[in-house]
Amino acid sequence: MLTPASHYRRLLGTIGGVSFEGIPFEETEDQQALRQLARDVAERELLPRARHWDETEEFPQASLDALRDAALIGITIGEKYGGMGMGDVEAAIVLEELGRVDVSSAILAQLIFNGPPRAIEHLGSDALRERWLPMAASGEAGFCIGISESEAGSAVTHMRAQLTRDGDGFRLNAYKNYVTGGHKARACLVWCRFPASEGAKGIGAVVVDLESPGVEVTGTHVKMGLRGTSEAELAFDDVRVEEDDVLLFGDPDNSDSFKRLISHINHERCGNAAMCIGAAQGALEYAIRYMSERVVGGRPLADIQGLQWKVADMATQLDAARLLMLRAVHLAGPHGTPPALETAMAKTAANLAAKFVCDEAIQLLGGYGYSREYPVERIYRDIRGLCIGAGTIEIQRNFIGSNLVKGRIPNSPSWRNPLR
Ligand SMILES: Cc1cc2nc3c(=O)[nH]c(=O)nc-3n(C[C@H](O)[C@H](O)[C@H](O)COP(=O)(O)OP(=O)(O)OC[C@H]3O[C@@H](n4cnc5c(N)ncnc54)[C@H](O)[C@@H]3O)c2cc1C
Repeated sequence: MLTPASHYRRLLGTIGGVSFEGIPFEETEDQQALRQLARDVAERELLPRARHWDETEEFPQASLDALRDAALIGITIGEKYGGMGMGDVEAAIVLEELGRVDVSSAILAQLIFNGPPRAIEHLGSDALRERWLPMAASGEAGFCIGISESEAGSAVTHMRAQLTRDGDGFRLNAYKNYVTGGHKARACLVWCRFPASEGAKGIGAVVVDLESPGVEVTGTHVKMGLRGTSEAELAFDDVRVEEDDVLLFGDPDNSDSFKRLISHINHERCGNAAMCIGAAQGALEYAIRYMSERVVGGRPLADIQGLQWKVADMATQLDAARLLMLRAVHLAGPHGTPPALETAMAKTAANLAAKFVCDEAIQLLGGYGYSREYPVERIYRDIRGLCIGAGTIEIQRNFIGSNLVKGRIPNSPSWRNPLR
C-alpha cells in the first residue's frame, strides 16, 4: 500500500525551498535517517497489526515493544535520563511516520514524546525528573494526562479536581474523564486546583503514581476509532500527594501556572497535527495506488480527470497543513515550546485536511472504501478523534480568531499587523 522511501526525499526536496523568517525546513541527514528508521519500524511492525488492534480493541503492546526495541520511544527525553534529547521536529517526524500506518500505536509514542515526560522535564523539579524520566526513556512506564472532566472539557477552567492540605503534603480528590491510556499507565499528570482557588487562578498540576491507594480506573470509553488506545475514567479518592509530586504549584492569586500548562500543551497539539498528517498521507497513498489498479468501464480510475482533481485537492490541503505544522515545530527550536498561534493554526489545518483527505479516500475506493476490509475507513475513524482531543478545532479557531482581532500575527513572510 505504501510508496517507496524516495517519495519523502522528493517531498523534502520541494519543501526545502520554502523559507519563513529564520526557519529552514530541510531535514538534516540525521533527521532523514530517523524518518527512515521510523518508517521501517512502522511498516514492518505496526502496519501488519493495525487492523487487529482496531477490530479487537486490544492495547497495542506489541507496537510499544517494537518502538522500545528500535530505541524510538525515548527520543525527546534528555540524554541525562537515558533519552536522546531531541525536539519537536524529530517528534513530528516519527509521529508522522507512525501515524501513516496506525494512529492507535502512534499515540503511545505521542504520550511519551509530548505528554507528561516532556512536561516533567521542562517544568518539573529534579526530584520529579529523576523519579520518572528514566522510566519514560526506557519505555518501562506508561504516562497519561488527566485534564478533562465531565463538566470541564473545552471549559477547562471549570475543573473541580481539588487538592487539600494534609500536613507537609496534599490529598487529591478528582474524577478525570477521557484519559488516553489511563488504564495502562503507571503515572498520570493531573491538572488540579490548589486550595482556595477559583477559575484559572490556582490551577496547577501534580504527578500521581497510579499504583497509589485511592486511585481507581472506573471504566473505559467505547469509541468510534483509536480503538487500540482506550480512554479511561480515573477516580482519585483522597490520594496522598507529596510536595515532591507537584509539577507546578497553583497560586490562588494568579493564573501563571495555568498559562504555563496551557502553553506546554502546544507540544501535544503539534504531535496531534503530525499524526493527522501522517494518517492522511497513508490514506492518500492508498487511494492513489487503488486508482491505478481499479479498472472501471475499461479504464483505470487514475485516468479519470474528475478523480485526478480529487487527488489534487487532497494533496494540496495535506501539504498546506504539513507546512504549517513544520513552521510551528521549527519555531520551537531544539528545546523550546511551539508558539501558540502557529500551533493552533497547524492543528486546525491538519485536523481539517485529515478529515477531508480521509473522507475523499473512502469515496475514491467506492464501496470498498466503506468496508472494514480496507484501511481507509479505519484511518478516517482514527483521525476523527484527533479533531477533538488536545483542544477541539472550534477551540483552536476561537484562539486564532481572538488573537488576530487583537493584532497578533503569525510568523509568515507577508503578514503585517493590520491594527498598526
Ligand atoms: C481521542 C480523544 C483523546 C482524548 N485524550 C484526552 C486525554 O488524554 N486527557 C484529557 O484530559 N482529555 C482527553 N480528551 C478529552 C478532550 O480534551 C475533550 O473531549 C475536549 O477538550 C472537548 O471537551 P468535551 O468533550 O467536554 O466537549 P465540550 O466541551 O462539551 O464541547 C462540545 C462541543 O462544543 C464545542 N465548544 C465548546 N465550547 C465552545 C466554545 N467556547 N466555542 C466554540 N465551540 C465550543 C466543542 O468544540 C465541541 O465541538 C480526549 C478526547 C478524545 C476524543
